[in-house]
Amino acid sequence: MSRVYNFSAGPAVLPLEVLQEAQADLVNYQGKGMSVMEMSHRGKDYMAIQDEAQANIRELLGLSSDFEVLFIQGGASLQFAMVPMNFLGKDTFADYVCAGNWGAKAAKEARLFGQVNLAASCDKEIPTRMPEPDELAWTPGAAYAHITSNETISGAQWKQMPVTGAPLIADMSSDILSRPIDVNAFSMIYAGAQKNLGPAGVALVVIRKDFAEKGNKALPNMLRYTTYIENGSMYNTPPCFSIYMLSLTTRWLKNFGLEAIYRQNVEKAALIYAVIDSGTFYRGTAAKAYRSDMNVTFRLPTEELEARFCEEAAKAGLKGLKGHRSVGGIRASIYNAFPVAGVEALVSFMKDFEKRCG
Ligand SMILES: *Cc1c(COP(=O)(O)O)cnc(C)c1O
Repeated sequence: MSRVYNFSAGPAVLPLEVLQEAQADLVNYQGKGMSVMEMSHRGKDYMAIQDEAQANIRELLGLSSDFEVLFIQGGASLQFAMVPMNFLGKDTFADYVCAGNWGAKAAKEARLFGQVNLAASCDKEIPTRMPEPDELAWTPGAAYAHITSNETISGAQWKQMPVTGAPLIADMSSDILSRPIDVNAFSMIYAGAQKNLGPAGVALVVIRKDFAEKGNKALPNMLRYTTYIENGSMYNTPPCFSIYMLSLTTRWLKNFGLEAIYRQNVEKAALIYAVIDSGTFYRGTAAKAYRSDMNVTFRLPTEELEARFCEEAAKAGLKGLKGHRSVGGIRASIYNAFPVAGVEALVSFMKDFEKRCG
């Protein structure tokens, strides 16, 4: 059976080479006589895998020794809660930017633990976008400021990260390592792995050591960042296979190069946006200045046409194009591993569909 072009928003397509390498090693990893899933997480074979995963992330992000690389279960959604649990108290407050569904969800969790100020709120606007710099109302003295670098559902992405005096925390679940960033501008970055890093089951957390140490010490072990730092993300059994896959994906990315993947990501997205902008049949969902390179969202003239578009696309081997159930429309998720040929196939399908139905 041949593979389809998988536009799923997450879990999402992985590099074929990575899948093939994992397949070759599945039953008998590097001649060790067992699979990665069956190994002790404290044995030297698995430890080498997790060490490589960390080293790859360090190299790709250009991390100094001020930062720690952690692997935590519970996805990005647990980070929505863990961040305020650690850094927000009864007498402190935090700034949140709500520019879409995920930012709003993060803010909602934080309100369980302390006061949340909305530095900007444009989560309900269409066309979707990120706030303009002069709309951002930061609160002096905030314990931290939280942003979502790419709103996966709406397809809006920060092109330039905002600047605030507070420690900046970013949910980068859907655009981590899709472009070079200045990591020193952040106190913490987190991302569920299943969009740009590997399979589901692990979240990557990159955090400044001195910031982690400010965390609430009265929390259970599994909810404190310092526990993961002190134990090399092995306080308990880590999600070994997910981290193994992340090590292969980040190795693949290192070989590709971050600058090169960024250029390719921009080019891929531009091919689809060019068709959207070529007439009035397709309408982009996000404001042009904030269009995501990872999740390209658009509408057709009617919902009936959108349904037919998805159906016919699927028959042509272009799967997973249906927009998120909360907003409808079409969403093409084209993360790092999504092939250029798949974007070209979508572009010709779009042109042909418009000719037939426009
Ligand atoms: C997918 C996604 C999440 C949720 O991730 P889980 O790992 O499923 O909890 C959070 N934030 C953003 C930006 C996402 O794209």
